[in-house]
Formats: sequence, C-alpha cells, structure tokens
Amino acid sequence: MMAAPFTASGVAIAVDPSRMLDEICSHFAEHSTVKRDGRQVTLEMTIGKADIRQDGPKLEIELSCKSARALQNVRSVLAEHLFQFAGEEALELTWSDAPKADRLPDLREIRVVGSRNISPHMRRVTVACHDARHFAHGGLHFRLLIPPKGRTPIWPKLRSDGRIEWAKDEDALTVRIYTFRSIDLDRGEIDIDFVLHEGENMPGAEWALNAKPGDIAGALGPGGGGVPDATSMILAGDETALPAISRMAAEVSAGTRLRIFLEVDGPTEELPLPSAGTVDLTWMHRNGAPAGTMGLVETAIKNALADADADTFVWAGCERSEAKRIRHFLKTERTHDRHKMSIGAYWER
Ligand SMILES: Cc1cc2nc3c(=O)[nH]c(=O)nc-3n(C[C@H](O)[C@H](O)[C@H](O)COP(=O)(O)OP(=O)(O)OC[C@H]3O[C@@H](n4cnc5c(N)ncnc54)[C@H](O)[C@@H]3O)c2cc1C
Repeated sequence: MMAAPFTASGVAIAVDPSRMLDEICSHFAEHSTVKRDGRQVTLEMTIGKADIRQDGPKLEIELSCKSARALQNVRSVLAEHLFQFAGEEALELTWSDAPKADRLPDLREIRVVGSRNISPHMRRVTVACHDARHFAHGGLHFRLLIPPKGRTPIWPKLRSDGRIEWAKDEDALTVRIYTFRSIDLDRGEIDIDFVLHEGENMPGAEWALNAKPGDIAGALGPGGGGVPDATSMILAGDETALPAISRMAAEVSAGTRLRIFLEVDGPTEELPLPSAGTVDLTWMHRNGAPAGTMGLVETAIKNALADADADTFVWAGCERSEAKRIRHFLKTERTHDRHKMSIGAYWER
C-alpha cells in the first residue's frame, strides 16, 4: 500500500485484550485483509489500514488512511466494534488527537421532492440537499437515517472516543444502506432507487413507498467504494445492486469493457443502462422464485471468469450467503488478485 498521509494513534484498555484481538480478526476477515503475527494484527482495507498490537492489557492502535474522511470512518468503525466486542466488560478507548465531539462531518439532511416507480418493484425517490456536492466523490453509497414518524430528528454526534452517539428510545433513527443512483449538482437533487422487496417490517422499502414531498431524512456518507479503476470489469448483482451498477456504467470512460449480469424477477424489472463503455448486458430472471435463492449471480460470475483475463475487475452485490460463496470462490479456487475484486453483501435473507 502507498504511504498514507492521514494517521491517528489510539489505546484501548480492555479486560480481555487477547479475546478482543481474536474477535477483531474473525470479524474483519469479511471486510478486509487480516494479517496476524501473534499479538500483532494488521487490517488492510481499501481506504486505509489499522495496525493493532497487544501489550499487556492494552491494544495499541495505529491508523493510516488515504484521506481525512477515510480516517474518520475507519476510526468510528473500529471504535464501534471494539465496544461491541467488549460487551459488558469495561473498555477505555483514547486517541492521540481525540475527535472533536460534534455533529458528524459526513451527515447532511435530505428532503423528499418527489417519488415514482420506475419499474413495478423499483421506486425512485428524489431528494434535495443543500450540499449535494458533498456526496459526489468518495464512494457510491450512504447510510439513510430514517427518523421516527412524527418526531423532530435528533441527528447522531461524534464522541471523543471515536464512536458515534445515536439518539435512543423514541428518538432512535432507523439506518439502512443505499446507493446514490445519480446526483444533479445544478439542481442540488439526488435520485435514490429503492427495491420494493418481499418481507415484513422493512423500514427502508416502506420509507420509499410512503415518501412524500417535504419528508426529512439524514444521509451519512459517501462511502463504500467507487467506480473500479479498471478497463475490463464483470459487474454482477441482483436488483439491490442495480442502482450501483447503473451508476458505474454511467460513469466509466469510453472504451471500458463491461460484462454486466443482473438478476431481477422478470422482464418488467429491466431498466436501461446507458454507458460510454462497451457493454455486454445479460438479464437473469427469477420468474417468481424468492430473491437470493437461485445463485444466479454466483453462476454468472463463475461462467464469465472462465474466459476472462486475470486483469478483469470482478464486482458483485447480492444476498449475504451468495456474496460469501463468490468471495470464497475468487479467493481460493480462482486465486483472483484481491485488489481486483469487490464483493458486497447487500442484504440478508
Ligand atoms: C453498499 C450497499 C448499497 C445498497 N444499495 C441499495 C440501493 O441502492 N437500493 C436498494 O433497494 N437496496 C440497496 N441496498 C440493500 C438494502 O440496504 C437492503 O435491501 C436493506 O435490507 C433494505 O432494508 P429494509 O428496511 O427495506 O428491509 P430490512 O428491514 O433490512 O429487512 C426486512 C426483511 O426483508 C428482507 N429483505 C431485505 N432486502 C431484501 C431484498 N432486496 N430482497 C428480498 N428480501 C429482502 C430481509 O431478509 C428481511 O426479512 C444496498 C446495500 C448495501 C450494503
């Protein structure tokens, strides 16, 4: 990894630091490359790295990231997980330059200006944001913060230990991850495409279904990876990844070769994917079978890789267990370069 200019040092004093180190390794193996040498652990993520060393009751942490935003995100994620792994046990976490306790720098309020179905099960909600430019670079995704009905939203704040302090009880926000499908900087408007999926108690899909002009929510981001830097890509996913794949197709430069595989229920869910790249697009239909049960995305990637060169970037977004199988296949059977893949668990059955 190239030298990263944004750094922070932290110390966590834990009751059982070696168990914490084990938990860090097993949890982050899904999201990063984990290297362990006894009491020394390195987590390598696309946006930076964390070195964690156990010294007696202490975990000494060194973070090194590509941007101030990445540093803030990695610190928050690590801090949240350390407290989660500590559970009921005491944990003291301090940072050399403690973050200023304040409103989150990546949080913006968004206001619904309109919504409409663009296919039977895909609803486009257009929101206004006074600072839409903030979301234009640094990742395609964001956390949608849905306030409880009828209450004035209380937005999260940053704590000095790096964690995020969320409103509780009747003010608790509901958080779901979505993609900025497109951002209109001139109008200060953003389109977000929501899958109206099967299920019960689904605050994200229901928010979109009921969205009316004037509704307020929070958007925390951007994050979660951008358009891969590659001239040849396989992009595959189900309808939850359709907004991300559409945006990537729309943003690649002319000459980029894209083989796209999209799983949807049927032909009426297919949407146009304009692109300056050379696109070879395959729609795959479930024809009424439940989402996340057919392994169509996994099979498409395996077949496409049979005649793809090693430089091909493989990107996927789909149901968690399918994403896990794809990641396993790429890492162990295909031994695909880990810098040339991004496989996301977009939802869980
Ligand atoms: C990086 C990233 C980007 C994403 N971008 C988008 C996006 O742009 N648009 C989008 O619609 N989604 C997107 N998703 C997926 C979305 O976050 C999940 O589908 C989320 O679970 C929806 O929340 P919910 O409140 O509607 O349902 P939940 O409360 O999470 O789940 C309720 C029930 O619905 C089921 N369920 C959830 N999602 C689906 C599904 N897709 N199909 C079938 N059953 C489902 C669950 O298993 C559960 O039983 C993205 C996810 C990630 C990680």
